[in-house]
Amino acid sequence: RFITFEGGEGVGKSTQAKRLQARLHKQGIEAIRTREPGGTPKAEAIRSFILQGRSESWGAGAEAVLFAAARLDHVNQLIAPNLDAGKWVISDRFHDSTRAYQGLTGGVDAKLIGALEELALNGHKPDLTLVLDMDPEIAFARVRERQLEDALVDTGDRFEKENLEWHRKLREGFLEIARNNRERCVVVLADRTEDKLEEAIWQAVLEHFPE
Ligand code: C5P
Repeated sequence: RFITFEGGEGVGKSTQAKRLQARLHKQGIEAIRTREPGGTPKAEAIRSFILQGRSESWGAGAEAVLFAAARLDHVNQLIAPNLDAGKWVISDRFHDSTRAYQGLTGGVDAKLIGALEELALNGHKPDLTLVLDMDPEIAFARVRERQLEDALVDTGDRFEKENLEWHRKLREGFLEIARNNRERCVVVLADRTEDKLEEAIWQAVLEHFPE
């Protein structure tokens, strides 16, 4: 089974992906955790190439193509083999991020995004997509706090306060994707404690995969 986490910046995807994996392990279910952009050495190389050079942006079209190339490697080398081996796969971001960032927000034509997606997914659509949803203003505050705590260098995240409108558009993009893909997408309110969010996600997983 293939589960993806999606949503804007700072909504808690990575933490919750870890927690879900731990919870599955407790149930005796083997699950691997990965992320995008990245997930394999080649795809991680493309990730750093794009994100580190963000000040000189490639533009959304080139990003869509490069991320598709990264995704194809990720699917073929990591996701598909693990699914075939009967493991669950949890990915922190996947193709919906390309739809939202490069497509709905970046302005790349939906048909082109669709064609790249077909190539990159190679038939491996997620079974469940958890869209973590939060007001970007709150998410922004959380990202900044984390960066101060960890003394992080800028990793290419797109948080600049003056860009709040852009983040609102991104949020709407993810919600639109969820509305149009109800058979696999569940929107989860992310503005709550990590424990409560973990519980809500676990309930969504149980409902989606009733054994
Ligand atoms: O989720 P994570 O923080 O690792 O993502 C790193 C950055 O990659 C995000 O800040 C986002 O701006 C960017 N990104 C993107 N297009 C995608 C996926 C991620 O611009 N399709």
